[in-house]
Amino acid sequence: MSDAVVSAEPMLEVSGLTVDFLTDDGLLHAVDHVTFGIARGETVGIVGESGSGKSVMSMAIMGLLPKSARVTGSVKFRGQELLGASERDLQRIRGSEIAMVFQDALASLNPVHTVGAQVAEAVAIHQELKGSELRNAAIALLDVVGIANPSARFEQYPHEFSGGMRQRAMIAMAIANDPAVLIADEPTTALDVTIQAQVLEVLERIQQRTSTSIMLITHDLGVVAGVADSVMVMYAGSQVERGSVEEIFYESRHPYTKGLLASLPRMDRRVDKSDRLHQIEGQPPSLVFLPTGCAFHPRCPFAETPGACDGEVPALQVVGDGHYSACHFPDRIGSDEGMKS
Ligand code: SF4
Repeated sequence: MSDAVVSAEPMLEVSGLTVDFLTDDGLLHAVDHVTFGIARGETVGIVGESGSGKSVMSMAIMGLLPKSARVTGSVKFRGQELLGASERDLQRIRGSEIAMVFQDALASLNPVHTVGAQVAEAVAIHQELKGSELRNAAIALLDVVGIANPSARFEQYPHEFSGGMRQRAMIAMAIANDPAVLIADEPTTALDVTIQAQVLEVLERIQQRTSTSIMLITHDLGVVAGVADSVMVMYAGSQVERGSVEEIFYESRHPYTKGLLASLPRMDRRVDKSDRLHQIEGQPPSLVFLPTGCAFHPRCPFAETPGACDGEVPALQVVGDGHYSACHFPDRIGSDEGMKS
């Protein structure tokens, strides 16, 4: 968890954010009334399987979705509404105030330019530096993200960097203008566990220096464990649980979160060849043809069907101080009782 000072001052406030796409099969509900905030210096983990809406949500926040997307609700940065803002305002905010790190660093870096030139370009977009000043600023950024011998690395091309170093270079570009909010979308997915930990450490270090607010998007609940202050779990475009990292890990009140937790490898358990990690049975639903009632009911070991679970969409309800669950029976979800093994 971050040691940066988390202030109550909200940097980013998302409320009722909804994103639909019109497809040949009908309306695709990518994000459905998602509400959360990120305070200054806070790290919020956004967790869910692929197709849960987390990446579409981050693109909506950045104003990067295609025109075919229908985006409603509200996204405020320092109190300023971003939905419907002019492209000029959004361009000013993107990169300098809210920056993004994507999963695929190799695809995001240009192979024909040196890494240094690309980091320098990111600096020059919002700062009037030139020549040696610009070069020194870029080298300093490579140093901040832990790239050894940054002056020599400045001259190298992306293919001369390892996967972990490319991701560090992407982070250097994202923090080039000290953004207030950093959105990291699966920043460690393509990396092995040791490099993952190093990249997360870089993010934490940056946060401690500048009290950046970080939105860490991942399919892996394990990634947020040591890094996030709070966690939002998404399923089929909706938030199903939200709370502090302790509440999510030790007092989860939603069967989907419980399933994600059960699938994490445990250091305190011996694993032999026949031991398989718990998997949540079934597949996420089509976002065009969502199941009736609770979208998770076909996979939920606690589901009451026919009944409340396939009859009514569960509202997000308070289950503790700052802890919310979108389940009809959050009080039954305190134990592993009913979980399929
Ligand atoms: Fe499971 Fe029903 Fe809760 Fe949905 S509402 S998570 S189906 S128990």
